Amino acid sequence: MPATRSAHHLIRSEGTTTVKVIVDMDRCQDHGQCVFSAPEVFRINDAGRLEFVAEPDDTLRDAVEDAADVCPLQAITIED
Ligand code: SF4
Repeated sequence: MPATRSAHHLIRSEGTTTVKVIVDMDRCQDHGQCVFSAPEVFRINDAGRLEFVAEPDDTLRDAVEDAADVCPLQAITIED
């Protein structure tokens, strides 16, 4: 099971080649459009807050980019 870090709503995962995902939680309003684009990376937890995989596998890059595009608050950043 991945460890969660509640302060930043992060879920860590192990992988070889990964994408670094950053969500500005001050901007995010937890509506969850990103969850539809990349459910492997983003989810809304039982408390109604966004959680995400901070370093998902590179195979999920396109899905994360789609999520960043659909985020109405432009809260998602991808770092290489
Ligand atoms: S789409 Fe953007 S604002 Fe909505 S939950 Fe995802 S990161 Fe937050």
